[in-house]
Amino acid sequence: MASARALAQGVRSGRTRARDAVDAALAAAERHAGLNAFVVLTPERARAHADRIDAQVAAGADPGPLAGVPVALKDNLCTRGVATTAGSAFLRGYVPPYDATVVARLEAAGAVVIGKTNLDEFGMGSSTENSAFGPVHHPLDPDRVAGGSSGGSAAAVAAGIVPLALGTDTGGSVRQPAAFCGVLGVKPTYGRLSRHGVIAYVSSLDQVGVFARDADDAALALRAMAGADPFDATTVDRDAVEVLVPDGEPWLGPDGAPLRVGRVTTSWGEGVAPGVRAALDAVAARLEAAGAEVADVPLPLADAAVAAYYVIATAEASSNLARYDATLYGQRVGAPGDGFEAVARTSRAAGLGPEVQRRVLMGAFALSAGHVDAYYARAARVRRRIAEALAAAFERFDVLLTPTAPTVAWRQEERLHDPLSMYVADVTTCLANLAGLPAVSVPAGTAEEGLPAGAQLIGPAWSEARLLAIARALS
Ligand code: GLN
Repeated sequence: MASARALAQGVRSGRTRARDAVDAALAAAERHAGLNAFVVLTPERARAHADRIDAQVAAGADPGPLAGVPVALKDNLCTRGVATTAGSAFLRGYVPPYDATVVARLEAAGAVVIGKTNLDEFGMGSSTENSAFGPVHHPLDPDRVAGGSSGGSAAAVAAGIVPLALGTDTGGSVRQPAAFCGVLGVKPTYGRLSRHGVIAYVSSLDQVGVFARDADDAALALRAMAGADPFDATTVDRDAVEVLVPDGEPWLGPDGAPLRVGRVTTSWGEGVAPGVRAALDAVAARLEAAGAEVADVPLPLADAAVAAYYVIATAEASSNLARYDATLYGQRVGAPGDGFEAVARTSRAAGLGPEVQRRVLMGAFALSAGHVDAYYARAARVRRRIAEALAAAFERFDVLLTPTAPTVAWRQEERLHDPLSMYVADVTTCLANLAGLPAVSVPAGTAEEGLPAGAQLIGPAWSEARLLAIARALS
């Protein structure tokens, strides 16, 4: 399938029709139904939108830089009039009355939404097996997971159904499935994209991200969505031009000196699969051959990142998910005459999956009187020190390099019943979320079993343009 850029160019010039692009994407989604990448397809809405775009072009108007590009949205992004489930049985049938800001902006740029993609319930997971709608299958091997929690969006791009898809990344949920599926995934700087209309998991870490097959397509989508939003006070109005991939020399640092790449070495290096390590060695060698300076950078505090992440994530999640009491949202379960407490309890027990319940319990514990200092407050301190350690590293390096994930895609159910083994796999990605920094997962060839590996580039705040420029040069 063509790139988003080429598709939009064709549609804007009248050479190709948005309707044909959308029909092709819908047909591909049907062909790949076995992946279980979509929770719902929206063919009527998509075709009507495509027809409006074609009519605009026929009338001499410009529908925008993403004109007629079929896109898929993770199903925790609110879509007006289209059911939004967050992968939870609890929200089955919930139809938001408004669009997430990122969705509205993507559509305003001409993109056409063809459906909502499968995810781990509320974004909690790394394999898209914790979904009320069943697991997503890896496009190259149905016995493997596609990664998570945005596994449906990753699989949809990797299978060639759409050139662009949105996910959310709280601890790695865009980068890790991108790496598993062999596509590019970018998590922007915290505050780059609005969280308005994103079903909250961990508000201080959540950020919308983009799946694409190359850096220029990812930049196109970022540019369409970036910028301040009155509905999200944490957004920052940076010049949107910054997320353009510059044509400049990606191997040069900001001052024209050679690009300084820090290869992170910590004790988790021992947990990295040999094939993934070899793939990263090859990326480092390519960077050096192109003129970059690559040096090791120890980051001992990174060893504490997963522990801090899971305390902070579960604490905020237990608070965010308190709203699901079956009063305003959610499927109500209970007998007539049951009071609020009983209805909330039975409805939550029936509607929230086991991983979500586990996390709400852990989070409530971490925040409870008598434990909050030992857990939440301590995790918050670790988080601050990680941010400081990364800031110090960026005085010596322009970008940091790590594997995106320690292994290639694992087998279905391999880690499902051993939550800790799933959690530790987030060791490489959650660093960037804890510090609010942008990071990109770039396809890095294949590793174990011929499955894709990903290289992660982490940059200082607002350095998306540089990260994407390096990603482009590595492709
Ligand atoms: N795997 C991590 C978790 O389960 C990250 C998920 C995400 O980024 N949404 O919390």
